[in-house]
Amino acid sequence: MGKTLLDGARIQQVIDFHGHSCPGLAIGIRAAEIGLREIGRASTDEEVVAIVETDMCGVDAIQVLMGCTFGKGNLVHLDYGKNAFSFYRRSDGKGIRVVTRPHVFNQPEDQIVRLRKKMVLEGLTSEEKERLRALLQAKVQEIMDADLEDLFEVRPAPGPIPAKALILDGLVCDECGERTMETRIRRFMGQNLCPPCFEKKMRG
Ligand SMILES: [Zn+2]
Ligand SMILES: [Zn+2]
Repeated sequence: MGKTLLDGARIQQVIDFHGHSCPGLAIGIRAAEIGLREIGRASTDEEVVAIVETDMCGVDAIQVLMGCTFGKGNLVHLDYGKNAFSFYRRSDGKGIRVVTRPHVFNQPEDQIVRLRKKMVLEGLTSEEKERLRALLQAKVQEIMDADLEDLFEVRPAPGPIPAKALILDGLVCDECGERTMETRIRRFMGQNLCPPCFEKKMRG
């Protein structure tokens, strides 16, 4: 299966949500295509769960296209720094892990990386800006036109489906008086403290 099967309006929704078009977002869009094909979209809360191993651009595509969001509790972030996405379906327990192949971000990514570094450190000339814009645009197009199998390796999910989000009680922090989820409350010298108040006490 080459070339994205999503219609232009749907892709535009993703770009609007994210704020710009970029290679990372394109990877998220294509990974979601596999998720939609193999697992389906979350129509009700928590029926479909996504585990994302990055907190970068691609996750925004997963949220819009798969219907998995932090607010619904069916999006889990693992801070591994990998463009890898797992999708699970509760009804039959099916789960897959979609991993971006290493070559995808090679050429001409080194040029992109070099220009982005220079942009942050010393700024770009207008020619360099145009060069970077063109490189990114070409990379997005390449990703959107690629066969999914060339972009990703798809394997069965490594672990079981994450447990459903618990509805947790809240406790009032003895220091700031703000209600805090009970699993985040820390005990210190007989007090219940929220994370920032606990950190403050620890620093003295
Ligand atoms: Zn982006
Ligand atoms: Zn507090």
